[in-house]
Amino acid sequence: MKLIFLGPPGAGKGTQAQRIQEAHHIPQLSTGDMLRAAVAAETPIGKQAKDIMARGDLVPDGVVVGIIADRIEADDCANGFILDGFPRNVAQAEALDAMLLDKNIALDAVIELAVDPDVLVQRILKRAQESENGPREDDTEEALQHRLRVYEEQTAPVADYYAGKGILRTLDGMQEMDEVTQQIEAALKEF
Ligand code: AMP
Repeated sequence: MKLIFLGPPGAGKGTQAQRIQEAHHIPQLSTGDMLRAAVAAETPIGKQAKDIMARGDLVPDGVVVGIIADRIEADDCANGFILDGFPRNVAQAEALDAMLLDKNIALDAVIELAVDPDVLVQRILKRAQESENGPREDDTEEALQHRLRVYEEQTAPVADYYAGKGILRTLDGMQEMDEVTQQIEAALKEF
């Protein structure tokens, strides 16, 4: 299964992607995690991305498209993958289409978790406080508000892009986590 999980920061994409990864034995590919690892390792990409990420902007499309193109070539993606945090704008979605066409692969489903924007800020600030690894650099209230704006302006149109292809399922991300997982599983059975 080749899946995309879409949703604003704090919607629970990462948690749900991890659960689906375990249940279906397909890797969760989080561009945010990969970029944070690059920042921590101080690679050239990490150095380029660090400040952009800290303020909540998107890193250049070429960087993330390159990362994903390499990653989906790996053996563990042979049976599928879950893209978490990618694509973040329509240009990335088009680049992904071209990449998959080249490999003769089709996406199965795009799962969007819809959440009331008013609860997101509180949810993320709480997550930041409770994190074992300490808060993320972009979990300040200011960066967070900016990430939400970037989502609305650049990423929300990605849902329309996939709706046009008939593979978008929008679920209520405000429910209990287990309930959301069940709804994702039910939606996946339809494809
Ligand atoms: P995330 O962990 O998905 O919230 O991503 C954290 C940050 O990494 C984002 O705010 C962006 O700065 C960067 N990032 C992650 N994925 C992408 C992407 N697909 N395109 C551009 N920037 C990204």
